[in-house]
Amino acid sequence: MKIVDHIKNANGKTLFSFELLPPIKGQSIQGIFNAIDPLMEFNPPFIDVTYLREDYIYKQHPNGLLEKVAYRKRPSTVATCAAIMNKYKVDAVPHLICGGFTKDETENALIDLQFLGIDNVLVLRGDARKSDSSFVPTPDGHAYASELVQHVSDMNRGKYLHDDMANEKTDFCIGVAGYPEKHFESPNLDTDFKYLKHKVDLGAEFIVTQMFFDNKAYQAFVEKCRSNGINVPIIPGLKPITSSKQLISLPKIFHLDIPLELSEAIQACESEKEVKEVGIEWMINQCKELKTMGAPVLHFYTMGNPEPTKRIAQAIF
Ligand code: FAD
Repeated sequence: MKIVDHIKNANGKTLFSFELLPPIKGQSIQGIFNAIDPLMEFNPPFIDVTYLREDYIYKQHPNGLLEKVAYRKRPSTVATCAAIMNKYKVDAVPHLICGGFTKDETENALIDLQFLGIDNVLVLRGDARKSDSSFVPTPDGHAYASELVQHVSDMNRGKYLHDDMANEKTDFCIGVAGYPEKHFESPNLDTDFKYLKHKVDLGAEFIVTQMFFDNKAYQAFVEKCRSNGINVPIIPGLKPITSSKQLISLPKIFHLDIPLELSEAIQACESEKEVKEVGIEWMINQCKELKTMGAPVLHFYTMGNPEPTKRIAQAIF
């Protein structure tokens, strides 16, 4: 079912969902099931599976020469989605990224997704490869998420890349990313909004936000969306702080602010166990408030560790 229909059918009740990374190459799917099992009691209508672009590694040969090799560490987003749908009978939402795909490959991947019965896709530009200082589009691929939204919307209208196609319409519900604290490459919030609105105008039907720790950021984001004519559901993306290192790593990786009250509470902790308790408590309070603010779904970035999310969900749902 489409995510927008799950939200409609909930009649204003806040839903629970979460995001997982596909297994590392060589690991079994059981690790994914172990990360899902503890969270199924909260009835997620959908589960997201991220997509990781290939990166370059250097392989040393016996003669000392280094060979640059493209390597995909977590290659199985689509298969992981199929396995989740098969085992749990919930909707799986694959993340679809621009980086690493030509337009033709993207189109073929979308056809596979349609045949697998996948109704939703989260359309993203994708992160830069670790070996690149900024995002590098694939030759003959899409450079921005909006171009990929346009591509999926075209297929939803029966328009494929090549005119000789049978023109059967796909019916994907398209989600996109939004940044309450601005995307880090954008010169200002208004420019970022202009491009977010462009994605919605091209066919995106829901937005999932980057994580945030201050609900005022989400509230201001929703208000700014509404006043700019963006009326689709806005799903807050959430992650509790679970270690003191994250005070540095989360702002560095995700370009977000951690409120002073939270950072000081974490700095005052005497053990990592205490840090985790503070992080979970903060997130429980954030979630309670988001529910009263009418958030359609509370969407957790579990990063393969279900336990903190389970504790939060127990307090909220
Ligand atoms: P875009 O919407 O293309 O925006 C990228 C930047 O370009 C922004 O600064 C925007 O303002 C600007 N921009 C947009 N359109 C134009 C234009 N036409 N001209 C000029 N500038 C423009 N990354 C992954 O690799 N895999 C994942 O699975 C993944 N999942 C994510 C899930 C969520 C909910 C979120 C919030 C992020 C996720 N990311 C993932 C990270 C995401 O790929 C990065 O944040 C990326 O840097 C931007 O992606 P986007 O889709 O927001 O890009």
